[in-house]
Amino acid sequence: MTQTRETVETHYHPASAPDYIPTPMLKKLQLERLQAIVRRAYDNVGLFRRQLDERGLAPSDMTCLDDISRLPFTVKHDLRDNYPFGLFASPMQEVVRLHASSGTTGKPIVVAYSREDVDVWTNAMVRTLASCGLSKGDIAQNAYGYGLFTGGLGFHYGAEGLGATVIPISGGNTDRQIMVMKDFGVTAIFCTPSYFVHMIERAGELGVDMRELPLRVGVFGAEPWSDSMRRHIESHTRIKAYDIYGLSEITGPGVATECACQNGLHVFEDHFYPEIVNPETGETLPEGQEGELVLTTLSKRAMPLLRYRTRDITAFIPEPCECGRTLRRIHRISRRSDDMFIIRGVNVFPSQVEAALLAVEGTLPHYEIVLTREKGLDAMEVQIEVTPEFFSDKIGALEDLQGRLVQALDHVLGIRVHVRLVEPHSIQRSEGKAKRLIDRRNLV
Ligand SMILES: [Zn+2]
Repeated sequence: MTQTRETVETHYHPASAPDYIPTPMLKKLQLERLQAIVRRAYDNVGLFRRQLDERGLAPSDMTCLDDISRLPFTVKHDLRDNYPFGLFASPMQEVVRLHASSGTTGKPIVVAYSREDVDVWTNAMVRTLASCGLSKGDIAQNAYGYGLFTGGLGFHYGAEGLGATVIPISGGNTDRQIMVMKDFGVTAIFCTPSYFVHMIERAGELGVDMRELPLRVGVFGAEPWSDSMRRHIESHTRIKAYDIYGLSEITGPGVATECACQNGLHVFEDHFYPEIVNPETGETLPEGQEGELVLTTLSKRAMPLLRYRTRDITAFIPEPCECGRTLRRIHRISRRSDDMFIIRGVNVFPSQVEAALLAVEGTLPHYEIVLTREKGLDAMEVQIEVTPEFFSDKIGALEDLQGRLVQALDHVLGIRVHVRLVEPHSIQRSEGKAKRLIDRRNLV
């Protein structure tokens, strides 16, 4: 029953066939689906009908793919305003599943799936996991949360659909996660990258060396993470760490994924039509230029969304991928316009801070950004854990490291910020999405 690493990685799953569709055929399919989805949205959802009527647009105006840019955008606010069921295009009798994403404030966003929608989603997740080198025979530990969050069930159905063995352990209870990983011969782990970093650390404390386990693949998403973080994960384990992308509003995980090349994410554009727009003006940007990712669900029945503004910043990669997939790639998303904060007039993304910190030797991937206001001026302090050796070393080594971190941040951000080195375990660990930013400016 043992499979070598090589046979597992070269396994091809028939569900992946659409990943290699010739581009002219893909465009034809996209246009047919676009026409059908705009018709469906117009006929069944009040918001879309009003918006199209206001612009004097009819579903029949979608005569080519470029016509999509004539459609109005949908934003998160539209989902909140129509809470809970106002954007459904199917009667409740046809809705087989509801999920909800927790908002930072107020009511959540509710999303609906018909039987066909669940099938499309499952299929997209099978393709995602196949693209990350998983196959039948893998033993997959699914540490994404099960519940209203789409992560747990999305991965669960996908891994089962692929024929892998799923362990639906959900998030939390790290010691048990490590016991299961070791005792069940787990070969693949699904969770947020920050939680996996925590697992590596805890495994070390329990005397478990992850490099000695059969674990060979990690499929990480649900939060932006840097290549420095990937290097940290890959150097402390034997796994290949893959980045995937998705959002509940569109389907959940399964919108885009890396392939063996780990160089950008292929978008499953036969189901989710991607555009990159200027976040300020909404204008469509030329291929290769960085902007906000906008997605249209091409086959979603219960809750179609037209030109949904994701707030995620990325760009198309114009060159074809060496893996042979014809689906377009986007750069991995390291920035969300929602995460951005402004300090002394400078736009800062937590991921920039992460990349700068982790590039300096001696740091651990546990950090926090604390914003305060001192005498009316914004102040930013970055707290980061450093390896135990540094603390046992002479004081000079710590000062030297601190100086290098201040310089690294200055180089990336163009401002001097305060860096505080803290001992391992000082910063709270997360079992889901990590909270990197603490903004205390309004409390003063
Ligand atoms: Zn590829």
